[in-house]
Amino acid sequence: MTVRTPEEIENERRTVLVNIFATSGSLILFIFGILSMSAGFVVLGSVVLGASVLSLGLMVYGRLSGRIRTVSYLFSALAFMLAIFLVVHGGVKGAGAYFSFPLAIIMVMTGFTSVRFTLTICSLFLSVVALALFGPVDEGLVYPYGADEKMHIMLGLAVLVLLAVFSEWIRLRSYSATLNTHEQLRTDARYDALTKLLNRRGFEEAMAGLPPERFPVVLAILDLDHFKSVNDEHGHEAGDHALRAFARHLRPCVRGGDLLCRWGGEEFLLLITEAGPDEALAVVDDIRIGFARTVLPVGENGLKLTFSAGLSCLQNAGGFEQALVEADESLYRAKDRGRNHLELSEAENTAGEPDDAGLQPVSAAVPRNKDQEPPDILPA
Ligand code: GH3
Ligand code: MG
Ligand code: MG
Repeated sequence: MTVRTPEEIENERRTVLVNIFATSGSLILFIFGILSMSAGFVVLGSVVLGASVLSLGLMVYGRLSGRIRTVSYLFSALAFMLAIFLVVHGGVKGAGAYFSFPLAIIMVMTGFTSVRFTLTICSLFLSVVALALFGPVDEGLVYPYGADEKMHIMLGLAVLVLLAVFSEWIRLRSYSATLNTHEQLRTDARYDALTKLLNRRGFEEAMAGLPPERFPVVLAILDLDHFKSVNDEHGHEAGDHALRAFARHLRPCVRGGDLLCRWGGEEFLLLITEAGPDEALAVVDDIRIGFARTVLPVGENGLKLTFSAGLSCLQNAGGFEQALVEADESLYRAKDRGRNHLELSEAENTAGEPDDAGLQPVSAAVPRNKDQEPPDILPA
């Protein structure tokens, strides 16, 4: 099932609204236009027929251009002008004013943007109607309604317009709440709740979104050593603390553009861009050395942990599965060497094995390039 965003649902709502109002409206207006013409009301008939054609034209334009918002606002403007015309003209025996009622509702529904803007437009609309009905306008310009009728038309329109704005405002509120919930769910789906790093899904999405020119990249899988014993000796909560502390340690080591995620359990993935295998090894080794020296706030006396890592090269996003297998194999080799080690995939390992003495450490406490955009990590 494809999941639609609230924006897509809102656009669909507008499309349906415009299509229904435009098709039924243009048909009804067409019939009224023809009837008015045949009854001798030439001006009325011409305006109503013109509105019918415009309404149909707007719908066709909307379909062809896909600019549904613009069309919906133009539709609202058309309803505004036709409603004013009907009040002023009076239609057949003054009935025109009553046909402006549904038009006023359509005007609000299709034109609603914000409460303030819509209320401004509605105030303008009601002011023009009030001016036409009660203002010092030339006799003959406006249909001669009776005094009571004028009041009924004015009050009826005002109440309808306000009710329509109120109903749209309520709808907007629930739309905004849906939008916020959707954003929150999207975020929750991409980030790990414990460490606030990207999770597996977020990482895969972010990697798929990397521009092809960022490749090749180096993939590193970091696995905490003997982590099970932390849980066994200090409890699961202490284990959680340690995982969070590890994530905190990793955060500043990640450059904007690189990706860091909690792949699962006590395994983390680091995707290092714009670096060859040697530089990537140096970066991860620097993190390893820094972390091994760090006393984690776990238990009464704190706790020192280490991790092992396997690295492999990734030529493009499509090669991820293979690169992960290679990085995992490298990780096993690092574990076999006694843990607290790094291993580069055999396919890439032309530069010899890293060791503490042979590598050029890059400060793990400082991002490699501070000027770059921050990495995709939730604030801690
Ligand atoms: P190795 O050095 O071979 O990696 O040993 P290890 O003990 O780290 O690896 P193993 O796979 O045997 O155990 C991983 C442990 O990580 C077991 C599991 O209970 C623990 N773990 C996984 N996810 C979480 C978590 O979210 N919180 C806590 N507290 N522990 C976790
Ligand atoms: Mg593991
Ligand atoms: Mg482990």
